[in-house]
Amino acid sequence: MINFSTGPSRVHDQLGRYFADALKNDICSINHRSTEFKSIYKSIKKHLATKLKLPEGYVPILMSSATECWYVLSRDFDQMPFYHFFNGAFGQRWFEYRYAQNPSNTFKINFEVDVYPRLPAYLPPNGFIALTANETSNGTALPREVMHNIRQTYPDSIIAVDATSCMAGEVLNWENADVWFASVQKCFALPAGMAVLVVSEKVAQAVKNKPQTQYNSLSYLYNMALENQTTHTPNVLNAYFLSRVLESSPEIELIDAQITARAQSWYSFLEKIGLQAFVKDAELRSRTVVAVQDSPKRIKKIKQVALESGFLLGEGYGQLKADTFRIANFPQHTEEETYMLQDFLKELLTNKHLLSK
Ligand SMILES: *Cc1c(COP(=O)(O)O)cnc(C)c1O
Repeated sequence: MINFSTGPSRVHDQLGRYFADALKNDICSINHRSTEFKSIYKSIKKHLATKLKLPEGYVPILMSSATECWYVLSRDFDQMPFYHFFNGAFGQRWFEYRYAQNPSNTFKINFEVDVYPRLPAYLPPNGFIALTANETSNGTALPREVMHNIRQTYPDSIIAVDATSCMAGEVLNWENADVWFASVQKCFALPAGMAVLVVSEKVAQAVKNKPQTQYNSLSYLYNMALENQTTHTPNVLNAYFLSRVLESSPEIELIDAQITARAQSWYSFLEKIGLQAFVKDAELRSRTVVAVQDSPKRIKKIKQVALESGFLLGEGYGQLKADTFRIANFPQHTEEETYMLQDFLKELLTNKHLLSK
């Protein structure tokens, strides 16, 4: 079966080999305070810099999930007003968690799926702006210029970006935000249970004097990360996988070009066979998550026949569960697999009786 779900998704082709290497080298049982672990961490940093072009001054912290990143940021910036700017279920969830914690200082600014997102320019200048670069739930993405404009408009705010379903799949303009994070079961092609949180010096300064009373207090995490260390026993195996996957990865510009070309091919393919992309405005479509909309009956049928034919499609998410499905267009999905799925869908859509049965 080929996993086109948008996360957890298909894992990296070489994972079996990396696992064998891990067992051979006792990676699963090394001490996380050891020099071996530190060198794994160091290599992750090095490859994030060389492959994903993470600029100097941004420190990657190993976390357990994107959800944990939401939590840590919401808690450690408790004094700041939070402005959540989003159009879908993941942005909403982050907003809700923070709102439950600090209702009087948490604000949402929604925009519609097919409307160009404009963050108002009248927000206070020193707030915390929470963005979702790629809204996995509905297949939209924030255009690059939008993030650039937000940075220009709010140079003194802290801008944090949930980039879970695009980090490692697309070029990120790191300087446009102070915090970025992603869990690894999407474009990093790894098993779930780990996330990468990247923070700038500005953020480190902002939390410098906060108490380090929790295992995941941001300043504690940051200081440990500077030493290639974690605050608790981490998922060492997944950290090892991350270092190996990044090491073997092409540079992000190349991956981005492939993802972009394949996303274009997906959207024009859908149109050709008479399937509707959920997002109508091409400029606002995600390149890594392709959402398809149809009647609940047909959506159900397509997913079911796909599964019988060896393709796991991503379920619709939240409110969109019944009338959409999603196709992951992640770096680990090969051209060949993509063509196989397209051939299958084409056949299904041209043999109308298959869908009406
Ligand atoms: C998948 C996803 C999450 C949740 O990731 P966890 O690893 O379950 O915490 C959060 N945000 C976005 C945009 C996602 O795609």
